[in-house]
Amino acid sequence: MEDAAMPQDVMVVGAGPAGLCLALALAARGLKVLVLDRQDEQALAEPAYDGREIALTHRSVRLLHELGVWQHLPADAAPVLRRARVMDGAHRGFEVGGEAFGLSYLGRFVSNHLIRRAAWCAAAAMPGIEIRTSVSLESLATDARCARVAPAGGERLEAALLVAADSRFSTTRRALGIPAFAWDLGMTMVLSRVRHEQPNHGVAWEWFGRGQTRALLPVADHEASAVITLPGVEAQSLLDVPDGDFGAKVTARFEGRLGRMTPSSTRHAYPLVATWAARFTGSRCALAGDAAVGMHPVTAHGFNLGLASVERLAQSVGEAVERTGDPGHPDALARYERRHRAGSAPLFAGTQAIAGLFTSPGAWAQPLRWLALSAGGRFPALPRGLAAALLDSPSDPGGAAHWARAGLRALRAR
Ligand SMILES: Cc1cc2nc3c(=O)[nH]c(=O)nc-3n(C[C@H](O)[C@H](O)[C@H](O)COP(=O)(O)OP(=O)(O)OC[C@H]3O[C@@H](n4cnc5c(N)ncnc54)[C@H](O)[C@@H]3O)c2cc1C
Repeated sequence: MEDAAMPQDVMVVGAGPAGLCLALALAARGLKVLVLDRQDEQALAEPAYDGREIALTHRSVRLLHELGVWQHLPADAAPVLRRARVMDGAHRGFEVGGEAFGLSYLGRFVSNHLIRRAAWCAAAAMPGIEIRTSVSLESLATDARCARVAPAGGERLEAALLVAADSRFSTTRRALGIPAFAWDLGMTMVLSRVRHEQPNHGVAWEWFGRGQTRALLPVADHEASAVITLPGVEAQSLLDVPDGDFGAKVTARFEGRLGRMTPSSTRHAYPLVATWAARFTGSRCALAGDAAVGMHPVTAHGFNLGLASVERLAQSVGEAVERTGDPGHPDALARYERRHRAGSAPLFAGTQAIAGLFTSPGAWAQPLRWLALSAGGRFPALPRGLAAALLDSPSDPGGAAHWARAGLRALRAR
């Protein structure tokens, strides 16, 4: 490889949590990384609250520690997720905990904007990483020798590898000619933190129902993020409710089960679109984070999977550098493609199936849902398998081997 003209080894488009974590993982392996984002520095360094409370697995927490991100979170930023309850309409469903695995909690919740801020602080202080903000890319191209991008202003940048980490709607992915499948679920999630009268005991709820899904993500004893998924028009009318009436509307949707709910944050909305890239790599390029797999949030695994992509790509690139000195070596990309595809396909397919069954408005779906929930209450293997998936602690999160092991463990327990 000629590297004289390349002041950076890897260029990452997107300074979101996945792009910044990848930059940290690559810089820790001695590589020079240039991160480019279209947002301005203020928006990236001090991101505003965006309503997302990210449920992190034990494994993701460990990885964020190793990358030096966790250390930049405020001390009280990560309340524990003790247990999770799955319900449907009037069916009380079943509860999942980590005790079968010797763990007192399933994971931790951290607000997305705090993860972004912590990742920014860690990356900005890391030697080997340069971050350029307010960048608009005019063109990009890759060939067998290198990747080139042209930001507005006339500069031409080159690197041995280009990584797209610019969200599930990645324009970099499209510019690279990589197709992606998208499932628009026609629903929108409305999120707001609420204070509530009864304690939540650190138990998260996923409460399905005809025409709506409610989730409760506890952030303190009497405070949680209330997430209501509705068809677009209904979601908009909930968003448009005046401040004084919003609490009453949310209390009613949660049937007053935790008493009166009062909003304690701004409201946010996310249209539900899941995406899956047809390829995760190409010549001198790779996709990471949501740009590779944009998960439906129902199983709370999007960023966990994004971190798995960071780990797998950094490992493959690191090995290639040791062997060949080339961070964009085709063997490294092929290895990442194989590992991340095998690791994410079962989780993506399982999440899509759950989302399809549990959010279907069809009358046929409810008996099936109740059957599934009754089975969950009666056969410990099911909640145990679900807990294993949520905990995601063994070696390869979401990997086929991990799922097979979790399934075998669950069957053995019976
Ligand atoms: C409601 C909701 C709840 C969720 N809950 C969970 C959860 O509980 N657990 C979990 O693990 N995950 C969860 N997720 C998923 C998680 O939020 C995402 O997986 C994660 O934020 C994706 O990070 P990313 O860095 O890949 O992309 P993003 O966060 O989208 O960042 C992309 C970055 O790229 C930049 N960019 C975009 N286009 C360009 C361009 N053309 N040029 C330059 N820069 C560009 C953007 O400015 C941005 O900074 C949830 C998602 C939603 C919507």
